[in-house]
Amino acid sequence: MTVANEKPKILMVSAAFQGHINPMLKVANRLISNGFHVTFAITENCRDNILKNIPNSNSSSGLVLDFFSDGLSLDFDRSDVKTLIETLQEKGPINLSNLIKNHTKNQNFSCAIVTPFVPWAIDTVAQHEIPCAMLWIQASALYSIYYHYFKNNDIFPSLEDPNETVQLPGLPILEVRDLPTFILPSYPLHFKEVVENSFKDLEKVKWILGASFFEIEKEIVESMDSLTPIYPIGPLVSPFLLGEKDTNDLSLDMWNAEDSCIDWLDNRPNSSVIYISFGSIIVFSEKQMENIIIALKNSNKDFLWVFKPANNGGSEKEDSTLELLNEFKKESEGKGIVVKWCPQEKVLMHPAVACFISHCGWNSTLETVVAGVPVIGWPTWTDQPTNATLIENVFKNGVKVSYGEDGVASAEEIERCIWEVMDGPNASEIKQRAVEIKESARNALKEGGSSSNNFNKFIGDLLAKN
Ligand code: UDP
Repeated sequence: MTVANEKPKILMVSAAFQGHINPMLKVANRLISNGFHVTFAITENCRDNILKNIPNSNSSSGLVLDFFSDGLSLDFDRSDVKTLIETLQEKGPINLSNLIKNHTKNQNFSCAIVTPFVPWAIDTVAQHEIPCAMLWIQASALYSIYYHYFKNNDIFPSLEDPNETVQLPGLPILEVRDLPTFILPSYPLHFKEVVENSFKDLEKVKWILGASFFEIEKEIVESMDSLTPIYPIGPLVSPFLLGEKDTNDLSLDMWNAEDSCIDWLDNRPNSSVIYISFGSIIVFSEKQMENIIIALKNSNKDFLWVFKPANNGGSEKEDSTLELLNEFKKESEGKGIVVKWCPQEKVLMHPAVACFISHCGWNSTLETVVAGVPVIGWPTWTDQPTNATLIENVFKNGVKVSYGEDGVASAEEIERCIWEVMDGPNASEIKQRAVEIKESARNALKEGGSSSNNFNKFIGDLLAKN
């Protein structure tokens, strides 16, 4: 029950991954601008990093940040994902429950929004009688693939053979190698179990909102209508990417972005620079790095490269990778720069950027769609192989590198892809397509657009409930 004159309160729950926090925060900002009060609960291992990078954590804007323990000590090496998942599954419900009690002494939350990667939170909020929404933070295609895999497994071939194919409603024929790695037998079971738990509890979730937008995945979204529909409200990107210069929206960065790269871009010609980033989790292997370096040298293009050292740092392999990079930095002075973390949205919007060599994380994919920048997709794991396939075959705003079983693309293949999107005969068609989908992304968010309508419907439901 909402106390008279108090804003309806929403709880949002996310694990401490940049790629999960970003889309959740975009929804938080939109809820706040619609008069809601949002408590954003994140696992506490990123607390210090986040607080360091924002001026005021408890802003008067209507957003309150709070943190709960994932059950592990702060210095625990969370690249041991199995232990992280298992401990979070066990301790998360207790710690989140205590956080909820602290925030609901006078007024309960009207709704909790969770990501699919904290599936246990669905039950926890239900125990507090809070209606639950899930923000599906990946492509709607992934929602459909996982849904069919967990609810109608018979339509899938053996996933042992990467060349086998599967035809799912609304999707092009996919090879097994294009499917999310979490369901592949070669992957540790604990990844699959996290997503499976979300689907087991789907009937307890009242609204499934999507980070994507209808127009870009029309057939897929429509094919879910008779099952458990997904309502895309995206692309969940910042207003800056949509052309607004000054906004009050808060961002929660786990690392400090090096703005100097924007000054560097300012001095490059239009459409001349290759932007390279593999997101917040992947650490480049020595072989990947070597091949990118050779391809960059042979292509003779300018580049901006985000090289994020591993969080746990210091192993022999990481040192040799760094050594390789430092040597290349010296050799290529004037041609390119390397930073640890950049303001990606500003980079993608910069006219000097010609294309993006990306791991195809879904946030990066949406951001590049909205910026109208062509992509060279080099996926590694989780949803990335499917996203890269969507980019090449469905969105057609880029190409996907071919790589061997070890996940490494050859230098020649990377060079071919650079040529394909920058100079080859298809380059202008790819660019034109990138511009077309940029427009449809913006239209989806305008008043009366598909995502705007879905979001207003959600808000209407929340207000009606109060
Ligand atoms: N990002 C950034 N600066 C960088 C690299 C990435 O701000 O130097 C942001 C990027 O804009 C995106 C997020 O980090 O919003 C990465 O999410 P994504 O889903 O693409 O990949 P993940 O990190 O989850 O693999």
